[in-house]
This record gives sequence, C-alpha cells and structure tokens, in this order.
Amino acid sequence: MNFEKVKCLIIGSGPAGYTAAIYAARANMNPVLYEGLQPGGQLTTTTEVDNFPGYPEGVTGPQLMEDLRKQAQRFGTDVRSGYATAVDFSGTNKIVEIDGEKKIEAQVVIISTGATAKYLGLESEEKYKGMGVSACATCDGFFYRKQDVAVVGGGDTAAEEATYLAGLANKVYLIIRKDHMRASKAMQKRVENTPNIEVLYEHVTLEVLGDANGVNGVRLLKKGTEEVTINVTGFFLAIGHTPNTEIFKNFIELDEVGYIKTKPGSTHTNIPGVFACGDVQDPHYRQAITAAGSGCMAALDAERYLGSLL
Ligand code: NDP
Repeated sequence: MNFEKVKCLIIGSGPAGYTAAIYAARANMNPVLYEGLQPGGQLTTTTEVDNFPGYPEGVTGPQLMEDLRKQAQRFGTDVRSGYATAVDFSGTNKIVEIDGEKKIEAQVVIISTGATAKYLGLESEEKYKGMGVSACATCDGFFYRKQDVAVVGGGDTAAEEATYLAGLANKVYLIIRKDHMRASKAMQKRVENTPNIEVLYEHVTLEVLGDANGVNGVRLLKKGTEEVTINVTGFFLAIGHTPNTEIFKNFIELDEVGYIKTKPGSTHTNIPGVFACGDVQDPHYRQAITAAGSGCMAALDAERYLGSLL
C-alpha cells in the first residue's frame, strides 16, 4: 500500500473543510484535502443560497463551493479526489486510509465529513431509489416537471424542497407525520402561500408504489386509521440527516446519534491532534456559515496543537 506523510490532512470538502483549508494553508500547514464522495458537499445539491454573508444577490450552492475550493487552492491547499475508508488514531501521528489503497500519516487531522440524508427505511423506498425516490429535490426535481410529486418531512429542508418543487411540478404533496410543521415560521408561510402545495398533516408513509417505469403512487396512513393513496411519480425524502462518522467510531467519542463530540467552544475531539468541524459535529445549527466558522476554528486549533509539539 502507498504511504505518504503530511502535516495537516483535511477530510471532506464542504464549507467547513474548505474554510479549514484556507486558514491552514495561510498558516503554512501545507494542508492536503480529500474531497470525499460528494465533492463540495451538501451545498452542491442546493440551488440558491441567500443567507451566506457576502453575496447580496445570493449565489448557487455549486458556485459557492467552487469559489471556496478556488480560494483554498489559491493559498496552496492540495485538493485531491479520494474517500477516507479507514482510520487509525491510536498513535501520535494519525493514519488515514484513502480509497482502501493508500495510507496517509498526518500530524493533525481535521474531520469535516458532513452528514447524509436519511431515508424512511421502507423496502419499497429502496426498490425505487433513482426511479422516482430521491433525497435531493434540487438535484432531481427537473425530471418531474408538470408531474405530481410528494415530499416527506416537516422541517426547513422539507419546506424548502416542497417550494422548490412547486415551481417545477404540477402539484406537491407535503407529508407530515405530526399535526404541525417544525420548519421556521418564514418557511411555513412560504409553503402556505404556494397554491400547488397540499400539506397532509398526520400522514405516515406505508409504501411507495410503482412498476417497471418507476414510482406511480404512495400509500399513506391518515391519522393512524384510514389508508389513502396519492398518485405521484416522484417521492422526495427530507427527514433529516445522519452524520458521516462510521469510520471514526472506534477512535472518536460520538454522541448517541453519531455526531462527533467536540469540547465546548472548540473543535477538539477526545483525541489530541484530531479536530472536527461542520455538520459532522453539529446537530443544532447545520448552516453553511456555521460550518465555515467551525472550519476556521479547527484550523486555528490545529495550528496551536502543532505549535505545542515543537
Ligand atoms: P429536521 O430534523 O429539522 O426535520 C426533520 C423533519 O422530518 C421533521 O419534521 C421530522 O418530524 C421529520 N421526520 C423525521 N423522521 C421521520 C420519519 N421517519 N417519518 C416521517 N417524518 C420524519 O431536519 P431538516 O433537514 O429539515 O433541517 C435540519 C437543520 O437545518 C435545521 O436546524 C433547519 O433549521 C436547518 N435548515 C435551514 C435551512 C435554511 O435556513 N435555509 C434550510 C434547511 C435546513 P418531527 O417533527 O415529527 O420530528
């Protein structure tokens, strides 16, 4: 297996990873950043981002990530494609395996692997993944122009995806298991003001229906008693995310959900020399700007740690 020694290794390429890279590169830490399975992270699946400071007219997710990558590279970050497949954080230097074929030994590791969309766990949902079932309206919505679709979830993501889809589709059903939405008041208002969204409160998804051509309906349980079927060709999940921490769990302390625990007010994990930033350690805020802020903190924490080794 190939072996390489680096000073600072950053795993993940969302706003947290790239911001950590910008700061680490400017501090002469010669960061190497592996982009992971989804270069640019979750924002590459978003259309307009209107709440990232510095863009008065808004910016698309992919453009923002492209800008962040270029900024990190401008200061010398070595951005590489590759996926961390295993780690060994038991020694002073940290070992990270890339794509199962290369080992990197790093003095400091910054984890910014983000989080991944959740699915309901239905067999029928799995069966029609990519054939009408999607966890990203902004990636796949285009395919459902003038058709009827459904979105599951009652949070900000669901509200955002439903309003986005409403601009493309004929009709959008928003399936919510409770009798109210969790989304912010502003997002709820947007949903209410969109005439082709029908909110189905107290509905639980039982089965995604379909045939060889893909999804053609969803079977729901209304208020725990009555079964209803809606005819839709697209079924979009927007029920939250799971942190991408599987490969770290034997070394790093995680919370009960799987988020990396960081010492309050810092990006220190329980392992000296390993820092975590962005959605992988943040179950609360989960914004691009908070991820970027914690990426900056991780680079500063890592710099101080490296200084303490001298
Ligand atoms: P949330 O965790 O906020 O919401 C998840 C939603 O999915 C809830 O309504 C939840 O229902 C529902 N849900 C979870 N599991 C199931 C299930 N098995 N079956 C049916 N429904 C289910 O996740 P979001 O992704 O919406 O938001 C995450 C964070 O990101 C939040 O802090 C949010 O504010 C933020 N965000 C901000 C945006 C912005 O500012 N522009 C845009 C998008 C997200 P229940 O309420 O019953 O638990």
